[in-house]
Amino acid sequence: NDASFPVPLGPDAFDLAAHYPELHAGAAERGEAPPQVEFADVGCGFGGLTVRLAEAYPDKLVMGMELRDKVTEYVKERILALRKQHPGRYRNASVVRTNAMKFVTNYFRKGQLTKLFFLFADPHFKASNHRRRIIQRTLLAEYAYLLRPGGLLYTITDVEDLGNWQRDRLEAHPLFERVSEEELANDPAAQLLLQGTEEGQKVARNGGKTWRHVYRRIAGPSDQ
Ligand code: SAM
Repeated sequence: NDASFPVPLGPDAFDLAAHYPELHAGAAERGEAPPQVEFADVGCGFGGLTVRLAEAYPDKLVMGMELRDKVTEYVKERILALRKQHPGRYRNASVVRTNAMKFVTNYFRKGQLTKLFFLFADPHFKASNHRRRIIQRTLLAEYAYLLRPGGLLYTITDVEDLGNWQRDRLEAHPLFERVSEEELANDPAAQLLLQGTEEGQKVARNGGKTWRHVYRRIAGPSDQ
């Protein structure tokens, strides 16, 4: 539950040095500003995408965000083991235990993120539980706030009803526009959506269908 994990009061209080110690120290030695997180994998589960993004984008900081304590601990250990096995790599991957629906704006600043991922989000099938879905109108306003104009929001699900819901909410939001399939064919991150995560691999093994909707954060009046 929410009471049992610490939440930074705001982005300035979020201790990035603890998450990315080598990169942080390196920047300090060179007298540079500490590097900032650009990619967030929301509901990262066992961290497959977080790790693969860190491989594919070695110069970007990737943060997995996960609600379940034990799962978060697993991802933490996974990343530490990878760092040990492959010196110099995976320094750009980390994970935090949090309730992203409640607290995502405590971790990042306005316009800080360039990619935001929601892979195989919990479907919350019953209509009375739809307000618990992680893509919805009020939360899209927060995601738009955190995403830099031009940044991308990725969703994929094996639940058709949820896919349609995510598409419809994104379509209805004035600060998001759909990214074409042609553009996604050349986007390495989009290629990781199905094969990159534990849940995606399970769906692929079972020959299941998936619904992928990717939207671009476009500039609005408050970005001028
Ligand atoms: N994205 C992973 C994948 O594709 O393998 C995990 C998918 S799993 C079905 C959904 C994950 O989202 C679970 O691990 C769950 O604990 C996490 N989750 C659900 N609500 C969350 C929230 N509000 N904040 C952070 N994580 C959440």
